[in-house]
Amino acid sequence: MHEFSITQNILAISLEKAAEAQASSIIKIRIGIGELSGIVDDCVKQYFDFLSQDTIASQATLSFEHIPVKLQCRHCQTVFSPDRDNWACPNCQQLNSEITGGRDCYVESIEMEVA
Ligand SMILES: [Zn+2]
Repeated sequence: MHEFSITQNILAISLEKAAEAQASSIIKIRIGIGELSGIVDDCVKQYFDFLSQDTIASQATLSFEHIPVKLQCRHCQTVFSPDRDNWACPNCQQLNSEITGGRDCYVESIEMEVA
């Protein structure tokens, strides 16, 4: 059900932006998915097809971009993308980092048609 509420969000944001731009239809929605978010593209697609019926986004294609994990070392402030199993800071080798990216799922951009 995780993907369901996220897809609802994506659709709501897209429709809101389209309304602001007075668009007649939404053509494409680019979605960023963080590696750590655990979101599955295909689930989002399925829910989107279902949820977007009878909206101006019903014909929209979704494209997904996977956002790598980003960490910031609490010790020396270095920002880095870790290897899968090695989350040590490449600068000072400490394992004391904060996750600053790759957890979220968000709308990156929307292509729409304005009548
Ligand atoms: Zn460090």
